[in-house]
Amino acid sequence: MTTPFNFSAGPAMLPRAVLERAQEELRSWRGSGISVMEISHRDPAFMAMAAKAEQDLRDLMTIPENYQVLFMHGGGRGQFSAVPQNIAGPDATVDYLNCGIWSDFAIREAQKYVAKVNVVGGVVDTEQGRAIAAPEQWQVSENAAYFHYCPNETVDGIALHTIPDHLSAPLVADMSSSILSEPLTVEKFGVIYAGAQKNIGPSGFAIAIVRDDLLGHAQQNTSTIMDYTVQAQDRSMYNTPNTWAWYLSGLVFEWLKEQGGVEAIGAINQLKADTLYQYIDSSSFYSNPVHPDFRSKMNVPFLLADPARDGDFLKQAEQQGLLGLKGHRFVGGMRASIYNAMPLAGVEALVAFMREFEQKHS
Ligand SMILES: *Cc1c(COP(=O)(O)O)cnc(C)c1O
Repeated sequence: MTTPFNFSAGPAMLPRAVLERAQEELRSWRGSGISVMEISHRDPAFMAMAAKAEQDLRDLMTIPENYQVLFMHGGGRGQFSAVPQNIAGPDATVDYLNCGIWSDFAIREAQKYVAKVNVVGGVVDTEQGRAIAAPEQWQVSENAAYFHYCPNETVDGIALHTIPDHLSAPLVADMSSSILSEPLTVEKFGVIYAGAQKNIGPSGFAIAIVRDDLLGHAQQNTSTIMDYTVQAQDRSMYNTPNTWAWYLSGLVFEWLKEQGGVEAIGAINQLKADTLYQYIDSSSFYSNPVHPDFRSKMNVPFLLADPARDGDFLKQAEQQGLLGLKGHRFVGGMRASIYNAMPLAGVEALVAFMREFEQKHS
């Protein structure tokens, strides 16, 4: 069997080289005779590996010294509650931009922990497709404890490509599906977080990058494992971390460095996205509902003009080793997720299949 290309939105494809290395090391990590999952997280070899993973992430993202890098439990959604509990008091007002399904879930979770969640604006329909309202139109609060947004909406395929930097409140971003996909100015943010299973490693794991001045304000009833300040003090080892996920994420960071870092992978990601969108735009058989300026480079939703062919499309794609193309259950259609681990060859194979399918059926 030839190796398939996996377009799953998450848990998503991992680099093949990373899987091979994990396989090689599985039964005897660094000559220990046991696996990395079976040793103490306080073992010096594990601690050194964990510290190297953090340093590699710091190098890749150029994370300044005054930010903590936390390896947390509970995936992306765990951070939906961790953010308001850690950064805002129970009486606070917080601002949220609503760009799609994940923003919406984050808003609903925040409502449990703060007095007021102010939705400043969000998606607008234009003649060229769905877009995000211009910053001048956002109804921001005067005294928000933070401003939250999701730069890449994984389900909707909508992205905000410019960082809002006109706001006085600390910027908090859910980068679950876009972290490490292109260069980023970390200094513009108060908190960046990401569930790991799209561009980093296994699910259930999350990374939070938190500016020092935002620590020390957790609400009193914050569960201790979700307390940024405690996890920062304990180097993310207040309780037993997900050691396997930490190890595997470390391998992904090493792989990314070998690829030339985020600048190099960002150029490939741009090429992959351009290749797919250009083909979709050139065809009347397929369409994408998003304004060209707001299209995601990681998640490309597309619709067949005749949805009755969706089933055939998916079945034949799968037969050709193109997996995970079914759109999210909330929106239907198709979605190709093309994270860092997806090579250009995968996108080219997808476009070739789409072209062939179009020719057969139009
Ligand atoms: C996948 C995803 C999440 C949820 O992650 P879980 O680990 O399943 O909780 C949150 N936000 C965004 C943008 C995502 O893509």
